[in-house]
Amino acid sequence: MELHEFTVSEAAATVRRREVSSTDLVRALLARMEALEPALGAMLHWDAEAALAEARARDAEPPIGPLHGVPIALKDNLSVKGQFCSCASRILQGYRAPYDATVVEKLRQAGAVLLGRTNMDEFAMGSSTESSVICPTRNPWDFERTPGGSSGGSAAAVAARESFAALGSDTGGSIRQPAAFCGCVGLKPTYGRVSRYGLVAFASSLDQIGPLARDAQDAARILHAISGPDPRDSTSLPDAPPDFVAALGRGIRRLKLGLPREYFSGGMDADVEQAVRAAVRVLEGLGAEAVEISLPHTEHAVAAYYVLATAEASANLARFDGVRYGRRAENPADPLEMYGRTRAEGFGAEVKRRIILGTYVLSSGYHDAYYLHAQKVRTLIRRDFRQAFERCDVLLTPTTPSPAFKLGEKIQDPLQMYLADIFTIAANLAGVCALSLTCGFVEREKKLPVGLQIIGPWMGEETLFRVAGAYEQASAWHKEAPLG
Ligand code: GLN
Repeated sequence: MELHEFTVSEAAATVRRREVSSTDLVRALLARMEALEPALGAMLHWDAEAALAEARARDAEPPIGPLHGVPIALKDNLSVKGQFCSCASRILQGYRAPYDATVVEKLRQAGAVLLGRTNMDEFAMGSSTESSVICPTRNPWDFERTPGGSSGGSAAAVAARESFAALGSDTGGSIRQPAAFCGCVGLKPTYGRVSRYGLVAFASSLDQIGPLARDAQDAARILHAISGPDPRDSTSLPDAPPDFVAALGRGIRRLKLGLPREYFSGGMDADVEQAVRAAVRVLEGLGAEAVEISLPHTEHAVAAYYVLATAEASANLARFDGVRYGRRAENPADPLEMYGRTRAEGFGAEVKRRIILGTYVLSSGYHDAYYLHAQKVRTLIRRDFRQAFERCDVLLTPTTPSPAFKLGEKIQDPLQMYLADIFTIAANLAGVCALSLTCGFVEREKKLPVGLQIIGPWMGEETLFRVAGAYEQASAWHKEAPLG
């Protein structure tokens, strides 16, 4: 086995036994990146010397934590002191973060080495990584297709074995959907499980940082490292992380699996549905019981999300005015022209669309009709989940209605792009946790992975890992790799 093929668990164990050095691992991944990146576009930037220096420092000391010496990639909307953080936007060109995100601090405390920064949709707005102003990322299973988004670079880098794992962010599906398209495990933690301090905010009431990894065990290890309370994020919850890795082996006997009727009502590809239903049968065979349940307000989730997320984005992105961050328009006549031109030149089309939409739904006269109304829908969606979790332990759904779509297929049609998020958005509105893992492959021109979404209740990540661990024990999909 070559070094770049290791999982996080394997990499951590071999470094601990001193069979390989962290420096060897970083070199192997850098070589992989150099070979694949020109075509793949998963990474925005990396500093080989800095990564090697961190690795050498880990090699020179006894293990400081469970991820000692393990290289991990970061989405380009996470702050690392002194590093570029572009959010794949022109407006943040040249900006360097002045402090470390809490997740970065925690990864370092666990001994991890920061490998490089992954591509994304601009400001995490999108589902295909095509709105990155640098380049689109390609799907490692089929270079004609998107890896999903917005954490498409993270998913593609992990699937292509350029990194053992990566962090992403998920506001409406941006970890789970690319994980599904690329054949990774992706987890959106419960809102408040992971500190958002140092994450460039898109929609603060929905954003969560989480892992993209090769298997559930790796995701559990990373979640354990990055979660926990943080006084610098007032929405972070007080619970210390439980032993997620131990949950993987606990089995699922008598667990109740809810199948939401509204998700299986004909809106998805037939072979995606087949793969998901086959996975449900595997889980039943392991002693769990499937029950049909209802989430009656599902059909309003996408509309409510695109009101709330754009409203919050319009407020959050107001800070990019050419004064404090990144790029500033040249030779403006006065401050107003400076703001206007900086933003006109700095933001891409999708980000502008959302700022305009968000400003509109918050404007006086429309606020009650749109923003307030969407908040009420959000409350109903939360209630749907609360009631569902009185009857079952987790919900099972497809992660996406179809496998990876083609580059260019939806980028000219925002509504089609938004509708691709239909199965992932409700979990963000409700704040519950959800994980995507591979439950099969379908043939298009090429073989493409299909994602199974496991949704758990608030702070129910251990149950997600029980189900994911049991499923991976009984299947081998997660061992398949693209590109040889
Ligand atoms: N695709 C969704 C959007 O465009 C979700 C993005 C995300 O989760 N960051 O808003």
